[in-house]
Amino acid sequence: MNHKIYISVDMEGITGVIHWDETDEKKPEHNYFKKLMTEETNAAIEAALEAGATEIVVRDAHASARNLVPDMLNENAKLLREWSRGPYLMMEGIDDSFDAVLCIGYHAKAGTPNATLKHTMSGQILDLRVNDQSLPELGWNALIAGYHSVPVIFVSGDRALTEQAHQIFGEIETVAVKEGLGQAALNLHPKRAQRLIKEGVGKAFKRISDFKPLKFSSPYRMELHFKNEDRAFRAEWYPGAKRIGELVVSFECADFMDCLRFFMFVT
Ligand SMILES: [Zn+2]
Repeated sequence: MNHKIYISVDMEGITGVIHWDETDEKKPEHNYFKKLMTEETNAAIEAALEAGATEIVVRDAHASARNLVPDMLNENAKLLREWSRGPYLMMEGIDDSFDAVLCIGYHAKAGTPNATLKHTMSGQILDLRVNDQSLPELGWNALIAGYHSVPVIFVSGDRALTEQAHQIFGEIETVAVKEGLGQAALNLHPKRAQRLIKEGVGKAFKRISDFKPLKFSSPYRMELHFKNEDRAFRAEWYPGAKRIGELVVSFECADFMDCLRFFMFVT
């Protein structure tokens, strides 16, 4: 099999990570957890290679986008670092040439109970809705992949995130590396988490034809619920945007790429 694989890696959903300082490259705690982030990514890469992947792009998708340790990463992958300042964000570099997307280290959407370091994109957003469906970052990123007709086939992160993944995709392959309990979390040992990720990605490749790209029907209706009123005020100035509540701005478009543009300029 000739597979070109895209791996988007966030950090809040890596086993052991339970505090923002551990995800902040300016804090000393980050040094340890960036290695675990890289090892979980390698577990996914190894399974992809065993399944016949011939080309692998890894997107460092957390905060500075400069977390994964380049010389620790499996040498068969290319690593995309930093933000381009364009609208693709955590999915930068995806295009129609890829066969599958794997999401590693992901977290649940803002407001989810018992979810580790939950938030939706910038932290300025209480809820991101597309066609009346409230989405975690995973769902938004899957729509970006779906725009390029690429399916998400595997997701790892905390238990709450994997539950949201099943709500979006149905019978997708997932691995929960930890389980949130309020702000605390019960974590798998890193080695065990890595082994389960490798097995889970392997299972996903065995039934790769089961997975369909995530696409919602056009026209798209986006709703952004902001934490602060001043953000909503600013967003309603975007051409075509409508203020539909004190904190809520909506936007409709026929082409999903226009949703990305809206999101890029108002968040
Ligand atoms: Zn993150």
